[in-house]
Amino acid sequence: MRIFISVDIEGVAGIVHPHQGRMGEVDYERCRRLMTQEANAAIEGALQAGAQEIVVNDSHAEARNLVAEELNPAAELISGYPKALYMCQGMGPGFDAAFFVGYHGGAGARDAVIDHTYSSKVAREVRLNGVRQTEGSLNGQVCGYFGCPVALFTGDAAAVCEMHEFVTEVEGVVVKESMGRYVARSLHPEVARDRIRAGARRAIERLDNIPPLRVEGLVEMEIDVHDTAMADVGELVPGVRRLAGRTLAFAHEDYLEVFRCMLVLLALGQTVILR
Ligand SMILES: [Zn+2]
Repeated sequence: MRIFISVDIEGVAGIVHPHQGRMGEVDYERCRRLMTQEANAAIEGALQAGAQEIVVNDSHAEARNLVAEELNPAAELISGYPKALYMCQGMGPGFDAAFFVGYHGGAGARDAVIDHTYSSKVAREVRLNGVRQTEGSLNGQVCGYFGCPVALFTGDAAAVCEMHEFVTEVEGVVVKESMGRYVARSLHPEVARDRIRAGARRAIERLDNIPPLRVEGLVEMEIDVHDTAMADVGELVPGVRRLAGRTLAFAHEDYLEVFRCMLVLLALGQTVILR
């Protein structure tokens, strides 16, 4: 049994503010350890359920957050940035299950700590075939492309609810209830880890009943970017159409092409942010 684990930071118990996930800030060293420990809880649950190979991808910002020497030695770690599949780097054929740990609500979600979709500063909303997406759904479809279901999803209540709208059967573990963008009532980190460990175990036990998340046929992506300068650079990408002042679109039969185009448009958007 091979397990892929993508770990973000905003949905980790005890974390409520972007500075807690930003290198150099006073709280960061603590919070990267909270993140590492939640990853470990998921790894432990997977091992208890019989996993033999575990690959962990650091999925937050520039992906140098998880503390390598404190990660469970049974897992191998992918860290660093930029990488072709970003939050799904390492995913490919042969994985039996994916776990998304420390995930957060999509851009625009109410009562969701640090709600965003890939980039707070660039993307206001990402849609596929007219349906609003989240990091959980966009990444889940990368896993689904390779036939791998997202079996475990952990984060705040809003993020877990959003994921259940895409796949009801996903094992969801709620570690905090957000009360605004920067406010949450959280489980103690140890209690959160206990629940993640148990959730990981349960997810593997019920794996046969958890379908992969897939988009079939032509996939039409739309991105509402934050300002028109971001659309000015985005529409230079071959194949990208500009539907409105702040809306870019791209369509392809192959979902990985769509996902990669999204990463390009978001990266380009970053280059025109005035500093
Ligand atoms: Zn994120």
